[in-house]
Amino acid sequence: MELVWILGDQLLPEHPLVGTPREGWAVAMVESVPRARRLRYHQQKLTLLFAAMRHHGAALERAGHRVLYHRLEDALPGAAEAEAPGGEPPDSGEVLAAWVRLHGVRAIHVLEPNDFHTQAALPALAERLGVPIELHPSPMFVLARQEFLDWAQGKRTLVMERHYRRLRERLGVLMTAEGGPVGGVWNTDTENRQTRSQFRKAGPAVPRVATVEADAVVREVAEQVARLFADHPGKAAELWLPVTRAGALAWLERFVAERLEGFGPWEDLMVDQEPVLFHSVLSPLLNIGLLTPMECVRAAEAAWAEGRAPLASVEGFVRQIVGWREFIHGMYWRHMPGYLEVNALEAHRPLPRWAYTGKTELRCVGRAIEGALRLGYNHHIQRLMVLGNYFLLGGYAPREVLRWYLEMYSDAYDWVMVPNVLGMVLYADGGWLATKPYAAGPAYLDKMGDHCASCRYNPKLKTGPDACPFQALYWAFQSRHADRFRPHPRQAMMVRQLDRMEDATRQGYVRTAERFLEGQE
Ligand code: FAD
Repeated sequence: MELVWILGDQLLPEHPLVGTPREGWAVAMVESVPRARRLRYHQQKLTLLFAAMRHHGAALERAGHRVLYHRLEDALPGAAEAEAPGGEPPDSGEVLAAWVRLHGVRAIHVLEPNDFHTQAALPALAERLGVPIELHPSPMFVLARQEFLDWAQGKRTLVMERHYRRLRERLGVLMTAEGGPVGGVWNTDTENRQTRSQFRKAGPAVPRVATVEADAVVREVAEQVARLFADHPGKAAELWLPVTRAGALAWLERFVAERLEGFGPWEDLMVDQEPVLFHSVLSPLLNIGLLTPMECVRAAEAAWAEGRAPLASVEGFVRQIVGWREFIHGMYWRHMPGYLEVNALEAHRPLPRWAYTGKTELRCVGRAIEGALRLGYNHHIQRLMVLGNYFLLGGYAPREVLRWYLEMYSDAYDWVMVPNVLGMVLYADGGWLATKPYAAGPAYLDKMGDHCASCRYNPKLKTGPDACPFQALYWAFQSRHADRFRPHPRQAMMVRQLDRMEDATRQGYVRTAERFLEGQE
């Protein structure tokens, strides 16, 4: 027998290795408890993943495939229940080994895994199993891994915008028949990214995000997850996302119909009582293959073509998927495994004590953590400009911050977290990904969000016990890294401002920031 091993984050509607059922072939799927315990992953992420896998396996069976499926609580295949080892449940390798023995498996086929370590472990696994594991190219991304690496080859700096335009041209997304961008512009950022006061003036109604009702599979998985992973953040039973292909398509359709229109103008906004706003919440589905990037892009493009959404919103959304998502994926493979070792800003602080409770007086930070705990989700600006900004300015250790992000979100996977956290947020890669650190003080947070109104701190005060701590944290960060950033064209202005500051003022900020950070340990 030959096996097609479908990894949990590769639940593709058209899996290239699973066409019509073939004699002598089977599909293999493993829910691995040890893998899910590697970090304390959010309970909703695990529920989504395992419920989606079970639905996928059942759909393949209905389509006539032979499916070997190992569930969380199953004993090792071939072992009688009573003889199952009492300790840790089996991992994927042990389950595959049992199937190889039981079914006389001659070869295992798998799509290129999305993360480096799973792929790197395959040769040793093949040796342990005594059968070859053949890797096949994966269509999970628009651009094949090698194509990005070829494009990146020999370039000193890689700019997302260039990659994005190149890809749009190639795919013919939002392009005219003459080969230019529709509307005459590649980038609609100036129309997007509107502020809190513009939001207040415009007063758009924010559509309610539907919660998908749990079916019997989700309820069963949620109960197992809550029991087996009791010390993980979040509540399994509160999963609100779809877990099937049909549910994912309906979710996409609803986003396009209700929220895409407002996506562009309000994409950088933060509203205290609106955890989703006009964002799509597609990443948890895209990242396990329930949706493909191009069907999301084409759905948005069609909405523009039919006059259902403005160009700025559609371009803004397409930029996230064709631009950022693909670029991040490429950068991961370009720099792994070295990415995990970076710490250019020499940051070593352990996480604050409230990282897993959200109990902090910083309203914007507390709200983001509460949202992550409750929903396994924060929108991009909360991840980058609130939480990320705090971790960056505070000098928190990259590996600790990475672990925290990996544990908190339903869409968290290595390939996307590593560059976003170590590159975009922490600038720990010294600029591989971002041209400068995304550092911001209270003025930015107050301009783009409404948390300050209900915060114990005041964003307008520069010093004193009621001043927003982001003020001191911001200048202490600039001061700490002034020598590094003085020659940097996009940072030099900040350093000049710092240089013009009275010594006493600068030192005051440094001391205040230090005292504040110590108080959070
Ligand atoms: P929308 O705002 O609706 O955007 C649409 C889609 O664009 C997203 O679904 C996503 O697929 C893609 N996208 C947008 N920005 C990025 C980006 N920077 N990198 C990759 N894809 C992007 N995204 C993940 O998918 N998984 C993660 O684990 C993850 N962790 C992040 C951690 C940090 C610190 C930061 C700054 C960003 C992270 N992102 C991650 C990227 C982005 O924040 C999320 O994709 C987005 O918030 C998901 O919500 P959404 O689907 O509503 O996105």
